[in-house]
Amino acid sequence: MSSDFQGFWWRPRDAQVHEDVEQLLGLKVTDVLVWAEPFVDRVDEWSELLHRVQASGIRFHTWITANHHYAQSFVQRLRNHSDWVAVDYQGFSSDVRPLAGVQTWACPANEERWLKEWEIWMPLVQGTNGLHLDYIRYPDGFRFGDKPEIDRVEVLEQSFCYCAQCCQRFQADYGINPRTIPVEDGNSDFAHWQHWRQERIVDQVAWYREQLRKEKDPSMRLSAAVFPTPAIARKNVQQNWPKFAQFLDFVCPMIYAKQFWGQPVSWTEDAVRQGKAELATGTKLLAGIGPYESYRPDELAEAIWSGRAGGSDGEMLFLFPMPPSYLAALKTVWV
Ligand SMILES: [Zn+2]
Repeated sequence: MSSDFQGFWWRPRDAQVHEDVEQLLGLKVTDVLVWAEPFVDRVDEWSELLHRVQASGIRFHTWITANHHYAQSFVQRLRNHSDWVAVDYQGFSSDVRPLAGVQTWACPANEERWLKEWEIWMPLVQGTNGLHLDYIRYPDGFRFGDKPEIDRVEVLEQSFCYCAQCCQRFQADYGINPRTIPVEDGNSDFAHWQHWRQERIVDQVAWYREQLRKEKDPSMRLSAAVFPTPAIARKNVQQNWPKFAQFLDFVCPMIYAKQFWGQPVSWTEDAVRQGKAELATGTKLLAGIGPYESYRPDELAEAIWSGRAGGSDGEMLFLFPMPPSYLAALKTVWV
């Protein structure tokens, strides 16, 4: 049974776009969130892809990274602006000591950076059906190597952002230097610090909404990929998505039940319910299901049904392209 939103996060393959679009049409896909980073220096190819997809009737959203980037050009830009880089509790810049040894993160609260990076994204956003925000949060506060489970605690070396500007701003608001606050649930100063950081992401989403308004195309949608439930999102990555959803048309909680949270497929329903319970009316919730390889094909279909049982308004699957056995399973639900 089709729903109003059936989509994928999509990383297009060069030279196979025609085949990919045919597959998407065969699955009755309504929306694709298209990975933009590889196209920042290939705007002409991006435009070609955009026109091809829109001509097929599928809505095309530009999928960007807000606070952590993979493309070397973005990482290099961060290195040229040391005050844009996130700093951890122990004073290490994320450039010097990358998260989990590999990820350089930007300070989520630096508006100058938002603006400079927007100038790069903008040519890839114009003319599309919307903007999709990924990494719109603080870094993962828990150790990656820990066993997947729901209750994970923030650890010092992954607690961000204690850059000079963030410390000064928090001190101006609360009269205390966040570096002196223990990273400790239950501590009231730490609760203020959590709340303050959550508000910085709310500010950032509001800022993107404002940029889209300037495009003067009221049909353009704003959406975000977020952590699976509001409680996990607030605790682990300072992402209060029920609050910033007021600026979004739809939100895609990444309910990666098996791989990241050690949960059964049926947890999809619980996670959707928790999200819907906190969302104000108007913003759609699309169950984000993936990564597909962590499920069997029949489990992928089961996850969609589970999300719908929880009240999802559709689903977004991670990641297209997918092998034929998974596409066949999706057809049993979507077509
Ligand atoms: Zn900062």
